[in-house]
Amino acid sequence: MLVFRQLFDPTSSTYTYLLGCSTSGEAVLVDPVFEQARRDAALIAELGLKLQWTLETHVHADHVTGAWLLKQKLGSGIALAAASDASGADRLLADGDRVTFGRRSLEVRATPGHTNGCVTYVLDDESMAFTGDCILIRGSGRTDFQQGDPRALYRSVRSRIFSLPETCLLYPAHDYRGLTATSVAEEKKFNPRLGGEVGEGDYVGYMKNLDLPHPKKIDEAVPANLRCGQPGNEAGVPPGTMEDPHWAPLRFTFGGVWEVEPHWLEENLAKVRVVDVREPNEFTGPLGHIRGATLVPLGELAARAPELPKDKPIVAVCRAGSRSAHATAILQKAGIADVANLPGGMLRWRAEGRSVEGGAL
Ligand code: FE
Repeated sequence: MLVFRQLFDPTSSTYTYLLGCSTSGEAVLVDPVFEQARRDAALIAELGLKLQWTLETHVHADHVTGAWLLKQKLGSGIALAAASDASGADRLLADGDRVTFGRRSLEVRATPGHTNGCVTYVLDDESMAFTGDCILIRGSGRTDFQQGDPRALYRSVRSRIFSLPETCLLYPAHDYRGLTATSVAEEKKFNPRLGGEVGEGDYVGYMKNLDLPHPKKIDEAVPANLRCGQPGNEAGVPPGTMEDPHWAPLRFTFGGVWEVEPHWLEENLAKVRVVDVREPNEFTGPLGHIRGATLVPLGELAARAPELPKDKPIVAVCRAGSRSAHATAILQKAGIADVANLPGGMLRWRAEGRSVEGGAL
C-alpha cells in the first residue's frame, strides 16, 4: 500500500509530498521546505516511516529546501537532478533514473523549461506525477529567470507529461488559489497556456507578456538551494527558529506541541514548574496532583500567565493531556518559550504508578 500525504507551506504556497511504502516503511519526501522540517519529521515519525530520500523537482527561487536539515535530523539522502548544478547531494539524478522506496518507486523525467534542472517524478504505476513548477493547475511555472525557456517548457509538458495516461493525477509544487491536484486529461483540455490547440509560439507569446514581479526570496533561496539547503552566509535562517529546545528530551508532535515523557518529569521535578490547568475540584479530586504543581485552571491561564515566574521551564498538566496541550500554546503566546505538555495527563501518570499528592489510593 502507498502512504501519501500532501503538505503545505503557507508562506511560500509550496506543496511537499510524502510518499511511503507501508510494507517496508521506507519513504521519500518531494520538495521539503526548510521552515517545515520539524513538522515533516514529526509526521514521518508518527506514521512509523523511515525517510530514505528527499527529492527536489528543481532549485527553487521562493523557499529554501529542507533537504539538508532533514538529513541532519533523520539521516535521509539528498537527491536532485544532475542538471541542477547543486552541490551537497548524495545522488544526482538523470532522465530515466528510478528512486526506490520499499516496493514502490518514482521515475525521473527531465522536464526543463522553468529551470534547466527541472524534473517530474512519476509513480511506478503512472497514477501520480509530481510536476514541480513545470505544469501548474491551469497554469505553468514562469520562464523569465534562472535558466527559464518557454520553448523547452512547452515541449516538456507536451512530450513528457501529456504523454502520461489521461487519468494520471498531477501534483504541482505550488498553488496560490488553494487547488490541490489535477489530471492529465483536465490540463490537456483546460490549461489556458498549454492545453487544447495552443502551439509553441502561442505559449512563448503568452509567457513573454506576463510581467511578473521579481521573486521576493530569490537572492537568498537560490544560493542556499544550490547547497541543498545548508545554511550559509546569507543570514537566511532566522536565529534560533530551527534549533530544538535543550532543557529536556522533548518530542515535537505533528499537532505542533512539544511533549515531555512522564518518567523524565518525575525524575526532574525540581528543574521545572508544573502548571496544572484542571479545575480546582479536579486538582483536589481522586486523581490527585503532581507534587509542587501550581493550579491555574485553563480558563484563567491567559490572564494569569504574566504572574508565572520565568526562572524554570513549564510543564502543563491536565486530566488526559488535551487541555494542557492547548495550555502550552497559550503560554507560548504569553512569551514563555520553554513549555511542554505532559501527554496522557494525570490518567497516564497514575496508570504508570507515579507519585502524587492527595487523591484516592
Ligand atoms: Fe520554481
